[in-house]
Amino acid sequence: MEYAPVSYRRTARPLVRLPSGQSVSVTVHRYVGGDGPTIYLQATQHGIELNGPATLCRLHTELIDRSLAGTVVVVPVVNPLAFDHRSYITPAAYDAHNPNLNRVWPGRDDGSLQERLAASLWPLISSADAVVDLHTGTADMLEHVRHFRGQPAATELARTFGTDYRLVDELESNADFDQGTLRAAAAHADVPAITVELENSRQVVHSAVETGLRGVRNVLAAQSVIDEPAIQPPEQIVLDRDGHTVSATESGLFELDSSVAVGDRVEAGEPLGVMYSPSTFETLETVRVDGEGIIYSLARESVVVAGERVAAVGVPL
Ligand SMILES: [Zn+2]
Repeated sequence: MEYAPVSYRRTARPLVRLPSGQSVSVTVHRYVGGDGPTIYLQATQHGIELNGPATLCRLHTELIDRSLAGTVVVVPVVNPLAFDHRSYITPAAYDAHNPNLNRVWPGRDDGSLQERLAASLWPLISSADAVVDLHTGTADMLEHVRHFRGQPAATELARTFGTDYRLVDELESNADFDQGTLRAAAAHADVPAITVELENSRQVVHSAVETGLRGVRNVLAAQSVIDEPAIQPPEQIVLDRDGHTVSATESGLFELDSSVAVGDRVEAGEPLGVMYSPSTFETLETVRVDGEGIIYSLARESVVVAGERVAAVGVPL
């Protein structure tokens, strides 16, 4: 490790070309110090997840004037197409096949627009020693960090980041859901990566930004990129993310019980709410939890189609 004053460079990286001839590029910040690891931080794969770029903006003011051992590469808005449309996914006009950027990694040079976009960014990720992908959930999701089971370096990154909850899942068994996520592609390339879900979308929320900044700063300290001790994060509650998914068996209007909230410990059979017909007012079903655990997310919309997930319950490990 060798600490040296930061040499800072900001560049525009062209990713893809639109039909009009305009190119889509992202801003890449590089903070280069002395010898050491390369840490890649990105945010805003989904256009409404704003506490990621807000976190990285705060980090910028901390990194610009200090010494580092290693390099920090930051892309605050990896999906400008979704961001500018204030949309979670990318508008279908750009890529009808792959509306979700976080399902196409590592991308393809000759693929759809989003696959090309991912492929253009991939070298920054595959050459890193550690990757932090910042997202945000909603008020109906517990703030947490995620990593795959059986990957010590990613586990340590997630532990160091230090949110109250850490969700663990399987790279292989969950392949359908996680296929093409940045985290899965990085795992296949042997790059330790974590997904962070800060609280709240569509708004910059100070508490989320503080959690994000504390997390990335702690990751950099633990990797000795910044010369300060990593703060021992509080004990995390570790949940098996592949716990229980509570799905509706009927379509209708779902009304959650007023006493139910994320973070609740629940038992098998416990009722979560009632599905009824908004037209005839008939009760169609009482939706119940099928196993014990902690609710880490709840449906954010009350119109529910049969088979749709209304809650996710993680099993404490
Ligand atoms: Zn996201």
